[in-house]
Amino acid sequence: MARYEIPFGDLKGQYLKIQPEIDAAIKKVIEASAFIGGPFAREFEKSFAAFCAAEHCVGVGNGTDALFIALRALGIGPGDEVLVPAMTFVATGEAVSMAGAKPVFVDVDPLTGTMSAEDLRKKITPASKAVIAVHLYGCPADLNSIGKIACDNDLFLIQDAAQAHGATIDGKELSAFGDCVCYSFYPGKNLGAYGDAGAIVTQNTALAEYMRKFANHGRKGKYDHQFEGVNSRLDGIQGAVLSVKLKYLTQWTADRRAVAEIYKRELSSIEGLTLPNSESRAGHVYHLYVIRCDRRDQLQNFLTENGIATGLHYPVALPFMEAYSSYGHTPDDFPVAYEMQGNILSLPMYAELGQEKAMQVCEAVKDFYS
Ligand SMILES: *Cc1c(COP(=O)(O)O)cnc(C)c1O
Repeated sequence: MARYEIPFGDLKGQYLKIQPEIDAAIKKVIEASAFIGGPFAREFEKSFAAFCAAEHCVGVGNGTDALFIALRALGIGPGDEVLVPAMTFVATGEAVSMAGAKPVFVDVDPLTGTMSAEDLRKKITPASKAVIAVHLYGCPADLNSIGKIACDNDLFLIQDAAQAHGATIDGKELSAFGDCVCYSFYPGKNLGAYGDAGAIVTQNTALAEYMRKFANHGRKGKYDHQFEGVNSRLDGIQGAVLSVKLKYLTQWTADRRAVAEIYKRELSSIEGLTLPNSESRAGHVYHLYVIRCDRRDQLQNFLTENGIATGLHYPVALPFMEAYSSYGHTPDDFPVAYEMQGNILSLPMYAELGQEKAMQVCEAVKDFYS
């Protein structure tokens, strides 16, 4: 028997806490037969725009499409290069290729794992058109530096905030930076739907209008198609579920931060462990709690044996994936991302985890190192 029983996430536990509200919200959508777009999707867009302090929110089918639609709406396509961090989920690179452009990888900052402003400068070419900054694990990327580089080089700045709902930079909302912010509401994200969903928020009215049309077959009115777009819309049930869950997001973020505090208090003195750098980025929303450690695989096995689920985000950085093998990148090209993929370990992190289980995770980690 394992000593503990701690899963990596607890979507069922989250649902049970808000079950009556969720069930009623879903029922209302079915009764109204408002399945695609419609009032429930619109209502969520309005509240999420307000939550993000943004003028506009365009609901789309998923987070990957949010990035793809943003790129296309900014006119990015074949012949263009888009700078993306080496350490992220594959979707960040994939969306660039979907738009017909070429993802160009940028190494990450050793402290936070987010895009290195220094390496970004080196990777800009005359074909560069945009930067996608990823707020990895919920830790805000250095948008003050990246935004300035983008501005100086006439590049669009798109944010991939799939892991960073509610994150801030120097107290400012993400929507205050760049051209638009792309979100995923994949069920396991900090704000998760009950299926696929995504959104793009922006202060730019013309951009929002174009993205809304593009996501809906380039449609101006019924059977009146101004241009060819795609089918990538937020559905009513997801909108209704997200509206319910959005009301709890601030509390859930506080609960995640409380878990992070426990991890920090209990684990910071262990030699051989590096904890997430919370000082430099106070607006971290801890989608994941990623430590760097010696003997990572042994620690992961030890925790598994003790009943504690962990994850690797991500075990292979984008430049080293088979999908991008044609680039011919070697570890020397991205030393920080390469080192990270070998020593990162994601500990359980979710609002429902609670203090007692967080302490059990810490005990097990301490046992391993003692
Ligand atoms: C989840 C995620 C995406 C993709 O979102 P989907 O809704 O799954 O398409 C993109 N980028 C990052 C960093 C993610 O974590």
